[in-house]
Amino acid sequence: MANLVTNVADAVEEYGDNTAIGFKGSEISYEEFWGQTGAFAAALEERGLGEGDRVALYLPNLPQFVIAFHGTLRAGGVVVPMNPQYKSREISHLLADSEAEVVVALSDLIPFVTEVRDDTNVEHVVSVGGDAEGATAFEAFLEPADPGIEDRADDDVAVQPYTSGTTGQPKGVQLTHENLGSNANSASKLIPDGIRSDDKTLGVLPLFHIYGMTVVMNASLFHGAAYYPMPSWEVQDAVSLIEDEQLTIMHGVPAMYNDVINQPNAEEFDMSSLRLCGVGGSGIPVEVLRQFEELYEPKIYEGYGLTETSPITHFNSPIEGRRVGSVGKTVPGVDSKVVDEDFEEVPPVEKGPIDEENADLREITGEIVVAGPNVMKGYYGLPEANEEAFTEAGGRRWFHTGDIGYQDEDGFFYVVDREKHMIVTGGYNVYPREVEELLFEHEDVADAAVAGIPDERRGETVKAYIVRTPDGDVTEEEIKEYCLTNLAEYKHPREVEFVEELPRTTTGKVQKFKLREREGDN
Ligand code: AMP
Repeated sequence: MANLVTNVADAVEEYGDNTAIGFKGSEISYEEFWGQTGAFAAALEERGLGEGDRVALYLPNLPQFVIAFHGTLRAGGVVVPMNPQYKSREISHLLADSEAEVVVALSDLIPFVTEVRDDTNVEHVVSVGGDAEGATAFEAFLEPADPGIEDRADDDVAVQPYTSGTTGQPKGVQLTHENLGSNANSASKLIPDGIRSDDKTLGVLPLFHIYGMTVVMNASLFHGAAYYPMPSWEVQDAVSLIEDEQLTIMHGVPAMYNDVINQPNAEEFDMSSLRLCGVGGSGIPVEVLRQFEELYEPKIYEGYGLTETSPITHFNSPIEGRRVGSVGKTVPGVDSKVVDEDFEEVPPVEKGPIDEENADLREITGEIVVAGPNVMKGYYGLPEANEEAFTEAGGRRWFHTGDIGYQDEDGFFYVVDREKHMIVTGGYNVYPREVEELLFEHEDVADAAVAGIPDERRGETVKAYIVRTPDGDVTEEEIKEYCLTNLAEYKHPREVEFVEELPRTTTGKVQKFKLREREGDN
């Protein structure tokens, strides 16, 4: 059974006294958690809400997020998670498009909701962390009643996160109980012994994003493990939480692991309680992984996926072995392949990773497509986008990831870059990832991103944005020389800019469009 509600109900039955959520020194048991989700579900039902109704969560990682999330599902509703960094302009599209009737928001964010409320269907605003005008406090909203469990079909939409995709307005991704439940179960199958009821999980990946929602929070709650939400990423606080609570599972984006190794007191951190460190969201530079593993015992296992695939499709599992630089093998129950423009399968290369410098990437790479129970029902109300996103072939419905990669004979996949990030300079293709990997190997480089900028002669040219280490004093000329010595001439950055930090999303992706926009300002 893949239903999100019944999976958690089973865990409550089996592990009622276990800690479900640990937050700032206090603990909520599975029994208590179930009582509170029931009270949230009853509150919705009391107000005439239930099946198919949308509840937007505009919160950082807090226990109330988890309670409102599972409470909404118990009432048969659909959760619309919203990034708490968004302002009114961004939420107005999400609220209007999803037709959300309830918003649960951090009290500080309520003014943004108030600003746009008139243009939406929002009937009820619930405030977390303090009173706010026009909102009911979270505690007062709850109804002390046990609504039981609404029987949901596997095919019912449970969550509708928004993703920007390549262009235009963010699209609502309809994920069903089966999509999300099957993926949370897959996440457990990738660890030796699966996720255990004595595991303790670091909940720092944002809950509004699919990685933090499925792989971290739901996978934990399905198995009687304890989930420790952190509202924001503070590296020293995260390490203290791992040390103090002896956490056993950490998932992060590459930027988080890079932050850890770049702390002045990095050598003092004790990571030995962790039995799994997972990474995804973007490719982890090999050098970051190497340095982390030089400092600490646990190894980092990289995975890959998208919002549209709930998310995991590939993982380097400790069970099956890993291959550094690869995003791993296709997870059980999911199918994937690399296809060319005619949807013909591109044959695998010998054992990877290949020497990208000397290979013709155009011959061995293609778009990664996936099929399986984790693949979304479709974008909400966007028939054209759905038409483009899927190809029916061999009786399967294949989802186009928009990522360029290749596969090796042993079934390991390698993501070269996103299709839209590829730089075409003087007729040559440059994948930023390859140049970034090299930059990370330079001892004066703490962080780096590469993007294409307009160039009259070559169409586009390669530019590197670099954050130097605190003692780093490498110059623009030295970086260019370094790249010229190690890469084909056309791949070296013709421009280098040193920056304080890189613009990143909360899920760790460098916002390359922001780097490019800045070019316009120069
Ligand atoms: P999102 O929908 O926010 O989860 O973003 C999905 C995208 O993140 C994918 O299409 C990839 O471009 C990127 N991504 C996720 N994991 C990896 C990884 N391990 N390596 C490279 N790119 C990744």
